[in-house]
Amino acid sequence: MMKTAEWICTKCGVTNRKLVVPAASEVLDKCVTCHAKHRVVESPRPVRWDAAALK
Ligand SMILES: [Zn+2]
Repeated sequence: MMKTAEWICTKCGVTNRKLVVPAASEVLDKCVTCHAKHRVVESPRPVRWDAAALK
């Protein structure tokens, strides 16, 4: 089963979701709306991951 990384874009505030393998704790993703690349890191909180824009 894949798990869902849900993260908030730091540029436009939209919620993004990405399916990742269960072992993943960090993933690179791109905002669906503004296409800003983010590093998304699994958070202790369920579902919602922490996102940081890549410069
Ligand atoms: Zn965005």
